[in-house]
Amino acid sequence: MGSTADGTVLRVTDLRTYFHTGQGIFRAVDGVDLTLRSGRTLGLVGESGSGKSLTAFSILRLTDRSARIQEGSRVEFGGRDLVSLSEKEMAAIRGRDISMIFQEPMTALNPVHRVGAQVAEPLRRHLGMRRREAAERAVELLDLVGIRDARARARDYPHQFSGGMLQRVVIAMALACEPRVLLADEPTTALDVTIQEQILTLLRRLQDRFATAVLLITHDLGVVAQSCDDVAVMYAGRVVETGPVARVFSAPRHPYTRALLATTPTLDSSAPLVPIPGTVPDSRHWPVGCRFAERCPSVMPRCRQEYPPMEGSGTARAACWLPVAFPRSAGTVETVAS
Ligand code: ADP
Ligand code: MG
Repeated sequence: MGSTADGTVLRVTDLRTYFHTGQGIFRAVDGVDLTLRSGRTLGLVGESGSGKSLTAFSILRLTDRSARIQEGSRVEFGGRDLVSLSEKEMAAIRGRDISMIFQEPMTALNPVHRVGAQVAEPLRRHLGMRRREAAERAVELLDLVGIRDARARARDYPHQFSGGMLQRVVIAMALACEPRVLLADEPTTALDVTIQEQILTLLRRLQDRFATAVLLITHDLGVVAQSCDDVAVMYAGRVVETGPVARVFSAPRHPYTRALLATTPTLDSSAPLVPIPGTVPDSRHWPVGCRFAERCPSVMPRCRQEYPPMEGSGTARAACWLPVAFPRSAGTVETVAS
């Protein structure tokens, strides 16, 4: 299950996941491109409802019944397109090659089973370990994620752990088979700041150890600044800007990225907090052209006519008709057009 020369482990191309409902077709994820690289963390950011979680669920094909991954979507991993695999083949990949963790640890845990047995479960299922061997390895893993007195704690039930400790258990379980890819959907959002930092540091350390490619979904740009290498900014079902974090945060290309940065006090405490005016359009009727046009302080006539292609140099790209990058020292979101 090798990676390519540039370390690409998983590549999402033109991912479209639509909800077919009585009220119409909701094009919630509508043309997402992402590249995950070995040992690197890609932060996926964007306002609530932009399609971040659905993107991750689509990669693992864990979407609910009304959601359909559309023809032409590709999720390339290990020389295969996951979109076209059978359910049985996908089941062999989930938890072994690609794992997922969530904001709420109990999503992944069973309240009536001891945590050691739950961490051991993927080892038995995917790697065929015997009960004794898997239990031993589970204790090692619990120790690795920083659970003290791991051997005794393995016999405890989930309710005997704090939220932060439970998230560590979940990480041990997700990384048990040393997956190539970890999808983490707001894994620290429910935790207080100190615990959040500990968990992010832990993830970083384990990622280095296993050379895992991580997709870290968050609405917190501070988290991205702290623990991601690259960032992809989602708006209305698409990625509108992507690149190395330092580059995107210091010179964002897309007005939406700039607006998002302006809403984040921790990154630049001198700038006033600027909420983004307006709302995301209805995914049943995306506008022609740029979906951010209605809210964009720099909108031009062309923006309402044609969707801008992703363009840029090297790994830093943005979908915007404006020709240049704007240094963030410009502060807020006005002053761009003309
Ligand atoms: P994020 O994680 O970025 O907050 P999600 O991926 O959870 O966003 O949601 C993407 C979009 O899909 C949202 O706008 C949401 O309203 C829509 N959505 C989710 N479930 C359904 C559904 N069953 N029918 C129609 N739309 C849905
Ligand atoms: Mg979400």
